[in-house]
Amino acid sequence: MTQTTPGHPFFAWKDGQLHAESLRVEDLAREHGTPLFVYSKAAMLAALGAYQRGFAGRRARVCYAMKANSSLAILQLFKEAGCGFDIVSGGELERVLAVGGKPADVIFSGVGKTRAEMARALEAGIGCFNVESEAELEVLSEVAAAHGRKAPVSIRVNPNVDAKTHPYISTGLKGNKFGIAHERTLAAYRRAAELPGLQVVGIDCHIGSQITDSSPYLDAMDRVLDLVEAVEKAGIPLRHIDFGGGLGIDYQGVLPPAADQLWAQLLRKLDERGFGQRELMIEPGRSLVGNAAICVTEVLYLKPGEQKNFCIVDAAMNDLPRPAMYEAYHGILPVRRREGAGTAYDVVGPVCESGDWIGRNRELDVVQGDLLAIMSAGAYCMSMSSNYNTRPRAAEVLVDGGKAHLIREREPVADLMRGERLVR
Ligand SMILES: *Cc1c(COP(=O)(O)O)cnc(C)c1O
Repeated sequence: MTQTTPGHPFFAWKDGQLHAESLRVEDLAREHGTPLFVYSKAAMLAALGAYQRGFAGRRARVCYAMKANSSLAILQLFKEAGCGFDIVSGGELERVLAVGGKPADVIFSGVGKTRAEMARALEAGIGCFNVESEAELEVLSEVAAAHGRKAPVSIRVNPNVDAKTHPYISTGLKGNKFGIAHERTLAAYRRAAELPGLQVVGIDCHIGSQITDSSPYLDAMDRVLDLVEAVEKAGIPLRHIDFGGGLGIDYQGVLPPAADQLWAQLLRKLDERGFGQRELMIEPGRSLVGNAAICVTEVLYLKPGEQKNFCIVDAAMNDLPRPAMYEAYHGILPVRRREGAGTAYDVVGPVCESGDWIGRNRELDVVQGDLLAIMSAGAYCMSMSSNYNTRPRAAEVLVDGGKAHLIREREPVADLMRGERLVR
């Protein structure tokens, strides 16, 4: 009998055993140890497929926002599926180059690009710099001119719309550090057009992350298109419009619109306003990978208490920082289903911080040694992981049908001390 896990079609129980595509999660954990990230290739391609369907017949490019998960094999998969990349550091550029990604398909976002990062990206020949301040325009022009180049630029507009998400992942409001204020945008484009080291190629916005409603996107699109009209009226043509990323995933039963449905609405608006044939770009991260992975963890100890019961597992805030950082919710499911009644537990890791929790007040029927699957662990987990408490990073496995590929070895502790020196 097959029982699906809500929102995760590629992770289902068959005869009481959780599977990733057609492989038993328990077998993967036995072979590779825990904590272990298990990815479904089909889940990632299905998520990308929703965007590709949405854009069928349009001139559109999906640039995977790789900070969501920058493991090399994940980048390789999206490159092979036809994606470009949205990067936010020089380090991410090196990862793209390491998997043979085309620099021309790379866009570089972020408020604090250094001169060294700019020079390297120019030398590599990236497709576009998404510039986030007027000061950055000046520096980028200087760096490009010094290298005898013209940097392709787009200005990131802060459209001042409320994405109605967690304050730490909202980026399109006046009080956020991101982008150039809507009112300053035209002046910034005029300046960009006269700077010797720049070539204006586009406009972009990105209003936040884990957005579960289409209305902020529709509002932001109107605000950006108003600017496109104003900038072009000033004689500065814009080749592409980039609407950023930010579409949410289902963590806990709140269903965001599907990518193709969202884009059907957005494309209707683009058509109405006469921009339907413009080259489009988007920068999705979480929605491509978030629900394509689980983190498998072992129950180390059960610790019943007067006020709370604790389920202590071998994954922790260093592996999965989202609960500690944003009080985020991850589903926690048994790898082997039992029929008994559950007990309410706080699921916590071994790290010495009260903030080291993974789930609160979860009904679980578990014993010591059981395996649990922490759901929706594909985005902003491994890429945000740390070595706090000198804990090595977990291993990662990519499942493709009936085949498992180890894509990251468990980190050896010796690597954590590499580069450190005693005083002598
Ligand atoms: C983080 C980020 C994205 C991706 O956001 P998701 O919510 O993961 O889709 C896209 N563009 C920029 C500029 C970002 O900083």
